[in-house]
Amino acid sequence: MTKITGATKVAGVVGHPVAHTLSPTLHNAWLAAAGIDGVYVPFNVFPEHFASFINGLRGGSLSGLNVTVPFKTVALTLADEVSERARLAQAANVLVFGPEGTVFADNTDGLGLLAAFAIQAPGFDPAAAPVAILGAGGAARGAAAAFLSAGATDIRIINRTVARAREIAADLGPTVSAHGLDQAGRAFAGVGALINATSAGLSGSGSLDVPIAATPATCVVMDMVYKPLLTPFLAQARALGRPTVDGLEMLIGQAIPAFRAFFGQAPPDGIDVRALAIQALGL
Ligand code: NAP
Repeated sequence: MTKITGATKVAGVVGHPVAHTLSPTLHNAWLAAAGIDGVYVPFNVFPEHFASFINGLRGGSLSGLNVTVPFKTVALTLADEVSERARLAQAANVLVFGPEGTVFADNTDGLGLLAAFAIQAPGFDPAAAPVAILGAGGAARGAAAAFLSAGATDIRIINRTVARAREIAADLGPTVSAHGLDQAGRAFAGVGALINATSAGLSGSGSLDVPIAATPATCVVMDMVYKPLLTPFLAQARALGRPTVDGLEMLIGQAIPAFRAFFGQAPPDGIDVRALAIQALGL
């Protein structure tokens, strides 16, 4: 445990609930390894108090916060300045408090997603082939925005409620198209990546029934859900011989730029936060 001093820099994660979050495990391990006088703590805030909680932190008593469910959208509306990627995702997972009282909103989930592909599917080129994204919530929108920024020219959003997929396509432009879940097989034709950005597959929730076999043999299959680490979706992809990328690598990938924003330096090398996270998940 980091020694707390009068000069300790404080950052954290805000959500409701928040007890399940792995972010304190990652950030505090990096802080300890780097010998930084800092600490990262969870804040469980009731939704009706979220705005006053954030506004009360103006002035820099905290250096910054990660934002998780259910506050990613509302966090954006409380910020004075919003990064382009957070604007495109219509969600913030990072808030940074300036000493002069400002709040800056950013979204590092897309960076985390691309970093996860770079690590677990080396050689994957996000611009080389169409991309299929399952889901139309904030995570799917952020993934589409990230792939758009990385040069993808054909992004297919596939969702149970097709109207939500159409909204994303209308907002992000002509390279993004909308499809119903019943059309998934057709939308999988020729894709270089298939991403599950639905919450199906989370421990205790329903599973996703889509024809992964309709993707090309080289298609990289990714699941944002990381509990369980090997979701039924990824297990099915592996059984078909598809290369896979998991949601834990994305979580670590989004935490790296967040750490830099909160503590002013990159996380130290040489600490296996993935192993620590797997231990914390009890996997
Ligand atoms: P959200 O806004 O609640 O959206 C959930 C999406 O899942 C909707 O499109 C919903 O479809 C769909 N869905 C839920 N259950 C389904 C089922 N049984 N069959 C088909 N579709 C189903 O959630 P979100 O914020 O976008 O997050 C989505 C997932 O990504 C969550 O599991 C979250 O934990 C994960 N995530 C992971 C990371 C990471 O770092 N690994 C980062 C961000 C998010 P409808 O529109 O039809 O309801």
